[in-house]
Amino acid sequence: MPNRLLLHVAENKKLEAIATRNRLTRPIVDRYVAGRGLDEAWTATKALNGAGIDVSLDLLGESVHHLAQSKAATQEYQGAIENIRNQAPGSTVSVKLSQLGIMIDPQECANNLKALLNAATTHGATVEVDMEHSSVGRETLAIYRSILPDHPNTRLAIQANMRQTPEDLLSFTDIKPRIRLVKGAFDESSSAALCNADEVTEQYKYLSRWALQHLPDPAFGTHDDTCIDVVKETAAELGLDKRDFEFQMLYGVRRKLQDELVRDGYRVRVYLPYGTQWYPYLMRRMAEKPANLLLFLRSLIGG
Ligand code: FAD
Repeated sequence: MPNRLLLHVAENKKLEAIATRNRLTRPIVDRYVAGRGLDEAWTATKALNGAGIDVSLDLLGESVHHLAQSKAATQEYQGAIENIRNQAPGSTVSVKLSQLGIMIDPQECANNLKALLNAATTHGATVEVDMEHSSVGRETLAIYRSILPDHPNTRLAIQANMRQTPEDLLSFTDIKPRIRLVKGAFDESSSAALCNADEVTEQYKYLSRWALQHLPDPAFGTHDDTCIDVVKETAAELGLDKRDFEFQMLYGVRRKLQDELVRDGYRVRVYLPYGTQWYPYLMRRMAEKPANLLLFLRSLIGG
């Protein structure tokens, strides 16, 4: 389970300012972040494409409090979408609604998302919507529902740790959503989420079977061997083709496993973050793998 203390640290603005200014953090940042700008992100994308791996581009930045910031993020994403066909066909973009303004004005956020979806339709790209902390979860789901009839290919991240998730999935009665099933990366209360790692893994396995049975083209965002094996076994048992679903992993995590899956005939997509606002994203990655934290702290103090 993600380390709760680190998830709090992820929200600390003072530490963010210190860490972001410190160039010594660069090696650990570079492991998880593909570059500061879109050009570097394309370079990393093409290298992965060369290995048979697709990409979902993520512009770092979240929880914005000014509409100008959400507009700037929308424009940056539009630029990426307009170039996908030329640079890396088959890529998607992953957006966080807190970056598109959900905490300021949900309607404006929905408008920003629609602008991206329209651009994606024009340029042959697909959008994926990340699922963030439960404080914006209901609104994220509501906005996703509102765009689904016009953009049924849009993928939504679904968190296995959230108690509400099975009910949410069953509530899609007309259009079956394309989902990315993940364990869940945020600090949640025990009333809202399962807090025991084994329970989350069991729930992940249960939901992955359900998704393979009931949903179109499901994606499994996990690096956990147990979960990956269950997905493979269940798909084979259900008579599905290896290309009827995809595995997704984070940039910099379990690269060898990504190659093995490609070699075995599975579709693999890497979630590829780029940009300068890496701090909360990186701290969530540290929370998932606290062993990496020592490296990060050493880099901060120059050790
Ligand atoms: P774990 O049990 O945490 O990890 C299994 C193994 O994977 C570990 O033993 C380790 O070997 C390796 N590993 C896992 N994380 C790391 C790491 N950071 N560094 C190094 N090794 C690691 N969460 C959300 O809440 N919302 C989202 O929208 C979302 N999108 C995601 C998109 C993708 C493509 C992926 C892969 C994850 C996403 N997540 C998201 C994060 C997810 O919820 C988990 O926090 C994260 O994937 C770790 O869970 P795991 O399934 O890999 O299993």
